[in-house]
Amino acid sequence: MQYDVIVIGSGVTGAMTAYHLSRYQLRVAVLDKNLEPAAETSSANSGIVHAGYDAKPGSMKALLNVRGNAMMGDVCAKLDVPFKRIGSLVVAFSEDEAKTVQELYESGVKNGVPDMKVLNAEETYAKEPGLQPGVTCALYAPSAGIVCPYELTTAALEVACVNGAEYLRQTEVTAIEKIDGGYRLTDAKGTTYETRVVVNAAGLYADAVAAMAGDTSFTIRPRKGEYILFEKSMGKAVSHVVFQTPAAGSKGVLVSPTVDGNLYIGPNANYVEDKRDTATTYEGMNEIKTCSAKSVGGLDMRLAITNFAGLRATPSTGDFILNEPAPGFFNAAGIESPGLSAAPAVGEYVVELIRKSGAVSLVEKDGWTASREPVIRFREMSTAERADLVARDSRYGRIICRCETVTEQEIRDAIRRPAGARSVDGVKRRTRSGMGKCQGGFCGPRVVDILAEELGCDPTEITKFGGASYMLTGKTR
Ligand SMILES: Cc1cc2nc3c(=O)[nH]c(=O)nc-3n(C[C@H](O)[C@H](O)[C@H](O)COP(=O)(O)OP(=O)(O)OC[C@H]3O[C@@H](n4cnc5c(N)ncnc54)[C@H](O)[C@@H]3O)c2cc1C
Repeated sequence: MQYDVIVIGSGVTGAMTAYHLSRYQLRVAVLDKNLEPAAETSSANSGIVHAGYDAKPGSMKALLNVRGNAMMGDVCAKLDVPFKRIGSLVVAFSEDEAKTVQELYESGVKNGVPDMKVLNAEETYAKEPGLQPGVTCALYAPSAGIVCPYELTTAALEVACVNGAEYLRQTEVTAIEKIDGGYRLTDAKGTTYETRVVVNAAGLYADAVAAMAGDTSFTIRPRKGEYILFEKSMGKAVSHVVFQTPAAGSKGVLVSPTVDGNLYIGPNANYVEDKRDTATTYEGMNEIKTCSAKSVGGLDMRLAITNFAGLRATPSTGDFILNEPAPGFFNAAGIESPGLSAAPAVGEYVVELIRKSGAVSLVEKDGWTASREPVIRFREMSTAERADLVARDSRYGRIICRCETVTEQEIRDAIRRPAGARSVDGVKRRTRSGMGKCQGGFCGPRVVDILAEELGCDPTEITKFGGASYMLTGKTR
C-alpha cells in the first residue's frame, strides 16, 4: 500500500481530519481536485463559530458544534489563526419571534451551550445600540465567535504537511475500487493510489465519492447563500454577530463583523441545481439588503466592496454523515452549517471512528507538532517591529497590497510555506493581498509577477484559481 489514509477533500473538514491524523505514525495524503485548499464551500461562508443552540438536540450537528466551539480557541491559538469570541444575538421583533428565541434558548440548554441568556429589550440595546427600533428580546450567546474560514483550513493543512502528510493538488478522484486490505483510487489523469483507509470529505460531491465506493445511502443538494461585504470603515456597525430569528432551513440573514474588521450582510438560502453555481444574483442582493435592514438599518451600500456566494452541501439525511459504510471507507459528508464551527471536532471524531474500526493502528509519532510557525503580519506590527523586520529583509519594506498593507516578502512566505500558494486567490486567502477596497486592482499584476518568479514559470502560466483561469493571455508589446 502506498498510503495508510487518503483524505479526499482539502476543505476545512478534510484539512482538520488530516491535522488530527498527522500526529500518528501513518502515511497520509490529502487529495483535492482544486489547486488550493478551501477552494469551495470552506472559502465562501459566514465565518461564524456558532454557539450551538439551533441544531436539533441529540444530532451530530449539535454534539460537534458545541464541542468544536469549545476547541476553537485553543486550535486557533496553536495554528496562529485570528479568532474572536465576540458573542451572538438572535434578535426578536414580535411576540412570535420572542417564542422562537425562548425555544432556541431551551434547545441550547439541551445541547450544552454555556452562559446563554435571554435579554430584554433594554439589555439588548445596551449590547447593540444600532439595532432597529421594536426589539422585544434577544438570545445572547457569549461563546459564539468569528474566524477566517480559509486561514483556518490552510493552517490546519499546513501543519498536517509539516507532520509528513502529502497534499496532492489538482487530483480529482474519479473511481474507487475495493482491493485486498484497502482501496485503489484513480484520478482524472489515470494515476492510481492505494490506501488502507479512505476519508470522504468531498463537500458538495461527497455523495458522488461515496457512490464510487458503493454507498448510495444519501444525496447532497447545493443550497446557495449570497453575501455583500463592506469595507473596514463599516466594521464597527455592530460588535456582535446579529441574527434574526431563523427562517425555515437556515439561520436567517445576519449582520456581522468579520475577524479581519470588515462587515457583511447575508446569507439567503436558495436551492440551486448546479453544484458550481456560485454566481450572485440581482434578486439575491435585494433579498439580503431588505432582510438585513430589519435588524440593522442605514448601511451605506456605496461602501460595499464585493459580493459573493457559497453553496451549502445539504444532505438528504438532515444531519452530518459520519460513518463507515464499508470497511475502511469513512464518510465525513453532508457537512453543511455549522461545519466550520464543528470542524476541529469533526476531524477528531473521524479519527476516533478510524481508531475504533481498527482499520489502521494509531500510534503517536515522535516530534509531531500541533502548532504552526507564526505568520508574519506586517499590518499588525508596531513601528519598531516593522523597522526591525525591514532591517532583516528589505522585501518586508515593499508594500504590494496598499489596501491591506501586505508586503512582498509576506507573499513570498505564503508561496514557500508547506502547502503554499500557487495562484492569485491562494495568495489572497493566505495574506489578504487583494481583499481590500480595490479588490486586487493595484496588487494583482505584482502578485502574478511574484508567483511566476517563485514558481519559476512564465507570468502567462499563473492562474486566478487553477484550471483555465489565466490572468494574462500574452504580451501586447
Ligand atoms: C452560505 C454559507 C454560510 C455558512 N456559514 C457558516 C458559518 O458561519 N459557520 C459554520 O460553522 N459553517 C458555515 N457554513 C458551513 C461551512 O462552510 C461548511 O460546513 C464547511 O465549509 C464544509 O467544509 P468541507 O470541507 O466539508 O467542504 P468543502 O469546503 O466544499 O471541501 C470539499 C473539498 O472536496 C474537494 N473534492 C470534491 N470532490 C472531489 C473529488 N472527486 N476528488 C478530489 N477532491 C474533491 C473539493 O475540491 C473541495 O475542496 C456555511 C456554508 C455556506 C454555504
